[in-house]
Amino acid sequence: MAVTHPVYHSIDGPVVLIGYGSIGRGTLPLIERHFDFDRNNVVVIEPNEAAEGELSARGVRHLPVAITKANYRDVLGGVLQPGKGFCVNLSVDTSSLDLIKYCREIGVPYIDTVVEPWEGFYFKTEDNSHRTNYALRQAVRDEAAANPGGTTAVSCCGANPGMVSWFVKEALLTLARDLGKETPAPSTRQDWAKLMQRLGVKGVHIAERDTQVRLEPRAPGHFVNTWSVEGFTAEGYQPAELGWGTHEKWMPENASGHTLGCRAGIWLAQPGANTKVRTWCPTPGPQFGFLVTHNEAISIADYYTVGDPVAPEFRPTCHYAYHPCDDAVLSLHEMFGSNQIPEVHHILEPEEIIDGIDELGVLLYGHPKNALWYGSRLSNDEARQLAPDQNATGLQVSSAVLAGMVWALENPNAGIVETDEMDHARCLEVQRPYLGPVEAHYTDWTPLTDRQTQFPEDIDEGDPWQFRNVLER
Ligand code: NAD
Repeated sequence: MAVTHPVYHSIDGPVVLIGYGSIGRGTLPLIERHFDFDRNNVVVIEPNEAAEGELSARGVRHLPVAITKANYRDVLGGVLQPGKGFCVNLSVDTSSLDLIKYCREIGVPYIDTVVEPWEGFYFKTEDNSHRTNYALRQAVRDEAAANPGGTTAVSCCGANPGMVSWFVKEALLTLARDLGKETPAPSTRQDWAKLMQRLGVKGVHIAERDTQVRLEPRAPGHFVNTWSVEGFTAEGYQPAELGWGTHEKWMPENASGHTLGCRAGIWLAQPGANTKVRTWCPTPGPQFGFLVTHNEAISIADYYTVGDPVAPEFRPTCHYAYHPCDDAVLSLHEMFGSNQIPEVHHILEPEEIIDGIDELGVLLYGHPKNALWYGSRLSNDEARQLAPDQNATGLQVSSAVLAGMVWALENPNAGIVETDEMDHARCLEVQRPYLGPVEAHYTDWTPLTDRQTQFPEDIDEGDPWQFRNVLER
């Protein structure tokens, strides 16, 4: 029997996609499937001329230009229509903040998956504190605070940042139930934060294990990944960064805080993708992940803060702990060893992946049941059955974009929002059909479990969930 897909809304006016890389290619079919719109009104802005063939075969208009600081108002002004349509930004090197401001100025709803800066920011910004996701996010938060309400712009609505913020809420409700403290879903930020505090959660890892693999071995000089190599290498060279919780008793010597903004995070003077942390996922159990900086590490720590942000009563530690696919781990190893970004970039196509899943969830730790992982365990095989043109990693992202678009159309005047602030139940309702098994797993593992005893280590034996025990030094 043919599968039918819900059509959530009509979109009147131009649907403009910026960027047609791995995520853009995966998102377009979901937009086509779940919204009703005039196909003649779709425009993809993508500088890579090679996209032309595929787009024209799909009957989609291709505008082969790169959006820049100098041209964005003209280029977007040429294809968007005030008060209509949708702008979906899935590119690199385009300033999310400037595009958000422009779209809101002309009343066009907007969504992206990361706070992206203009080209040059990642490698030409001299001051490391300005190169953090804290700084990028804070600029968007400042704009939201300065101009509240108005046309909805959804910031950072991919898998992570994005979907994982919805998982944190589901995990909290699951934990409350399993601790005998069942509660209806809170309706305010403050109440969500107090729920996390009341349940005794000390922190959250965004704990991911990508096991997708192809047959062909990675060649030297190649950077192989399951999503943007450009995006991953740029964020990998940003400082390691995390939301900093109130339970922490120790801080790395090379850590710095911030004197402006939400104060929820700290950064370390070392690249995130070369910084190892201990974490846990259902398939491997204990594993190393990389402390790659991500928007959600700061947004979640900020959202769940209780009390004065400058001297909070409660705040969770929160960070990414990412084990990318094995070929990407080898690529990073070569990149940091040589201090050169490998020249050949390759994103694994769904057809060449022979096995593996992207296991992406949130590990809530430090509470009376020790640790709870809640997340999606989507295989590439299942992803291929669910939607065209994307691997498991891509589908976790593109389906979050779909959910965010549905939410934005249902909440057209919400201003600039992050996924923590959206209705997580509605968003997951839309997204869940694309996530494969979504599961909750408790574990008694802690960062001190089976710790090597033959060499002395600077650990805190009294409190297993201190960042001091998580960070590999
Ligand atoms: P990609 O590298 O495969 O594609 C990016 C595309 O943007 C390319 O086709 C490139 O030609 C295009 N582009 C480059 N400069 C441009 C410009 N100035 N104007 C318009 N287009 C331009 O990347 P991807 O894997 O598709 O990822 C897209 C974005 O999504 C990245 O910013 C990435 O960081 C983000 N992302 C977010 C998540 C998440 O979970 N939140 C996950 C994966 C990717």
